[in-house]
Amino acid sequence: MTAHVKPKALENFKARDFRMLIDGAWTEGTGQPIERIAPGHGIVVSRYPAGSKGDAERTIAAARKAFDDGPWPSMTGAERSNILLKAADLIAARADELAFLDCIESGKPISQAKGELGGAVDIWRYAAALARDLHGESYNTLGDGTLGVVLREAIGVVSIITPWNFPFLIVSQKLPFALAAGCTTVVKPSELTSGSTLVLGEILIEAGVPAGVVNIVTGTGPEVGAPMTTHPDVDMVSFTGSTGVGRLTMANAAQTLKKVSLELGGKNPQIVFPDADLDAFVDAAVFGAYFNAGECCNAGSRLILHTSIAADVTARIADLAKKVKVGDPLDPATQVGAIITPQHLAKIGAYVDGAAKAGASVALGGAALDLGLGQFMAPTILSGVQPDMAVAREEVFGPVLSVLTFETTEEAIRIANAIDYGLSAGVWSRDFDTCLTVGRKVRAGTIWMNTFMDGASELPFGGYRQSGLGRELGRHAVEDYTETKTLNMHIGARTGWWMPR
Ligand code: NDP
Repeated sequence: MTAHVKPKALENFKARDFRMLIDGAWTEGTGQPIERIAPGHGIVVSRYPAGSKGDAERTIAAARKAFDDGPWPSMTGAERSNILLKAADLIAARADELAFLDCIESGKPISQAKGELGGAVDIWRYAAALARDLHGESYNTLGDGTLGVVLREAIGVVSIITPWNFPFLIVSQKLPFALAAGCTTVVKPSELTSGSTLVLGEILIEAGVPAGVVNIVTGTGPEVGAPMTTHPDVDMVSFTGSTGVGRLTMANAAQTLKKVSLELGGKNPQIVFPDADLDAFVDAAVFGAYFNAGECCNAGSRLILHTSIAADVTARIADLAKKVKVGDPLDPATQVGAIITPQHLAKIGAYVDGAAKAGASVALGGAALDLGLGQFMAPTILSGVQPDMAVAREEVFGPVLSVLTFETTEEAIRIANAIDYGLSAGVWSRDFDTCLTVGRKVRAGTIWMNTFMDGASELPFGGYRQSGLGRELGRHAVEDYTETKTLNMHIGARTGWWMPR
């Protein structure tokens, strides 16, 4: 672990003031701006307008007008694709600036933030390709008198609401696909990490996205986000965040029967059999638990280890976890950065204390780390966790790994499935049958076999049960932002109902 020193990069740092993007114009808010204090450095780094309900309504009106009258939905797929490709190039050109903003606002390590920007550029390019390939179906099998054509049409105005843990990556899992389909959008980033999304607004204008097609409104969820989920002029809500707010979003959207796409929490198990490549697994366990300080919906926060290897493997994970470099998010060598807010750090601590009271043992860490500025949490391992403990069932969203054990394959599957979430899971064995049996029985949207938290723009991502609704990424992602329309066409003389001809 490194001692915290105020980094050189912030010595002459001046907080950046942002504005919102409404109908192609950069707009100040009316109230006091929201100040973001860097979680790893304790200083104000950004100020965003505190948008109001009225601001949200103005952005929705702009997006509605741009959809109903504007050129975007009528452009060819190739035209939209070229603009998205230009946006991808501009994102790549400004990747260091965007990664810096994500790093200081969220507290994630700078090397990781740069990696996320690389992934985001790839997603924008992938969505650009799909813009040209969006198509429906035709039925030439309905007899000589009928031709059926099924169109895919842009669904309309989409509200996009994102969380703080992967600010630029998550907006990139939504926005380019909505744009590829021809939708117009209102985007609300988290009030804690709005900077990179606002820079994206500049990029999209430069790339040639017409005014009103992408609007970005900043502010709090209840003030700005809620109207984006209820307003009758919004056709769809794409939300990533906590399961609680996801549930509220769905209830709000139900008032006007909007389509919803939800990416929510996870409590993802890694099931490990004695014949697995345990060296590879130990590395993946540490990565899965501590990547992004565990503030990750995909975190591998539950290990389900075969009893015969549990003690040895837990000790090996602890040995490796001790070497993980926790520290200044701007230090290129840092692997685990800061915790998003002091309140969230307290919540993580309460989970650890609760688990200890319930009978789990703290095998590593268990407490906050004082590095001088900001808030940090030590990589933590809890052993002897039972499936019914809160720490085994609820999303901690911090660097806390719970270790459970199993005797039989059936028991491992039962423990894995005995929670409300179903986002992802890992299975480790050199036996093909074991991997496939477990992979097919565990109810989760992604199953990793002998790896963990790998991804690609081509592969759909989303959850079963209370982890969400719908899928992002993959070739069907763009279809999520469409309506289906049937053209039922009659050919030749029509047989009348009243007056047979
Ligand atoms: P929240 O659910 O608190 O917030 C997510 C977004 O929703 C924020 O922009 C927030 O605004 C907004 N919001 C809050 N209240 C409302 C409301 N009443 N109406 C509309 N929008 C609202 O999640 P966090 O930001 O705290 O992110 C962490 C959570 O996100 C974790 O639980 C994690 O599991 C989940 N997550 C899931 C992912 C997935 O793909 N499955 C990926 C990443 C995170 P604001 O905070 O600005 O007030």
